[in-house]
Amino acid sequence: MSILDQFRLDGQVTVVTGGGRGIGEGIALGMAEAGSDIVLAARRKDEVEAVAEKVRALGRRALAVPCDVMYIEQVEQLAQRAFDEFGKLTCWVSNAGGADDRVPRTFLEMPERQWDFQMNLNLKAVWTGAQAAARIMKDHGGGTIINISSAAANRASPQNGPYAVAKSGVNNLTQTLAVELAEFGIRVNAVAPGPIPTEVFMEFLKLDESEIPELGKRFGIPLGRVGTPEDIAPACVYLASSASSWMTGQVMDIRGGP
Ligand code: NAD
Repeated sequence: MSILDQFRLDGQVTVVTGGGRGIGEGIALGMAEAGSDIVLAARRKDEVEAVAEKVRALGRRALAVPCDVMYIEQVEQLAQRAFDEFGKLTCWVSNAGGADDRVPRTFLEMPERQWDFQMNLNLKAVWTGAQAAARIMKDHGGGTIINISSAAANRASPQNGPYAVAKSGVNNLTQTLAVELAEFGIRVNAVAPGPIPTEVFMEFLKLDESEIPELGKRFGIPLGRVGTPEDIAPACVYLASSASSWMTGQVMDIRGGP
């Protein structure tokens, strides 16, 4: 196989949670362009339907499934629906994540509800997603799982503490899953993006569109700019493809510099 062919995802079926906008949309479209059929899942049906249309325009099959990843039974139904519809499930991208009411708070100010919400959305849903996907993949030839972490993991994150704790947990869970699932031919890796001005990001930091060109400098990013969803998609194509067949349990940092 040629080196470029190793990156192709022809014949794959990929589930992207939180695929209705932002980074998830970018990942879905990038993986579709590389050849994969796509199942898009998010709470809002209209958002995932719109992205599904874009996937179809690229010549791939697409399915839009309303799903709240905070509920394990909905995650299990999502995995089964993808398998039933397309006859296989080869890649699962746990991308849904973010903040509760999008208000920065210190640990002193934080209500218990917000801690629980952040852990359930950003960490527990990665476990439920991996479990639902792996239970199908292990009996059908293996697959890949890609967890969307964050540059916020493994460092202090004032006023956004639980989010960073949860994403650190994602990095650790990725390693354990990789070891436990290797014998089933399932590889598990994570991608940790730096700042990308999506809806949740702009709202959380109370930023205006006009400020985007200056953000690279403000965040001290060596390559001088913040990221885009299109910066993340190629890493997911790589991790889902045979080009990364000897790679598991790793976190890929994509953030414009160390
Ligand atoms: P976004 O708000 O633009 O998109 C999040 C998507 O997840 C949306 O489609 C939303 O509907 C969906 N979603 C949220 N809660 C859900 C739930 N309970 N069930 C199902 N779907 C749900 O956010 P984004 O910036 O594109 O973030 C995507 C991922 O990337 C998140 O895991 C986030 O933590 C991570 N991330 C973002 C940045 C950034 O700077 N934007 C940086 C690092 C990591």
